[in-house]
Amino acid sequence: MVNFEKTNLPTDSEIRQDLAKEKAKRVKALAKNPDSKAGSYRLENVIVQVQNDFKDKCYICERKDLIDINIEHFTAHKGNPDLEFSWENLFWSCSHCNNIKSDNEVFNNILDCTNLAHKVAEWIGYFIEIPEQKGKIEIKTQDCSQEYLERVNNTVALLQEVYEGTTPLKKIGASNLRKLIAIEIGKLRLDLIKYYQMNEADELKHILFTSICKHLSISSPFTAFKRWLILQKEKLKQDFEPYFD
Ligand SMILES: [Zn+2]
Repeated sequence: MVNFEKTNLPTDSEIRQDLAKEKAKRVKALAKNPDSKAGSYRLENVIVQVQNDFKDKCYICERKDLIDINIEHFTAHKGNPDLEFSWENLFWSCSHCNNIKSDNEVFNNILDCTNLAHKVAEWIGYFIEIPEQKGKIEIKTQDCSQEYLERVNNTVALLQEVYEGTTPLKKIGASNLRKLIAIEIGKLRLDLIKYYQMNEADELKHILFTSICKHLSISSPFTAFKRWLILQKEKLKQDFEPYFD
């Protein structure tokens, strides 16, 4: 998990106004039918903006270019139109993560990656053991302020479930997810090995530098794992941490 800055839309923005209109439809319909599903937050302009803000990545597992896309409610709305149609509450996630998060009430109290004060990539450690065909993953609570400890621990528990799976079917999904992470980490490691073998004068060294920085950008898949790999080695940290976006 990494932090994303969600677009701070003005009150009179088209998206906020459209969401307000859809919410009004729901509220009106609910007065007649308590089960009404009138109105939808799944509007094209809303979806495109959420997708851009989250760099087309599931905010939980950090998989990119999703096919199984969900617009997730960070705080479960449980039929409350204020939460269901709130711009701030709409997040980009995959169905694997959305299902696991909705299965446990405690995951309603996790770190908010769109709140820059919640240091999701610092207060949580992301470790993957390679070589191992499917990659063993450990998510660990790091030093953080006492005030956030419960949220950090809940986020760690959620991520661990996401990367391990909770049911026979989700375990297969999680295993496939770990393979994707292992492949991405493998690419980064290969770039790093080649980078340190090159002379300063070699043009390829600069190409590799750009490629490594791209891997470490929040737009890249599984950035938190890649950044932790860098931060664990002093030399790598010194050379690349200044380029984290
Ligand atoms: Zn996910």
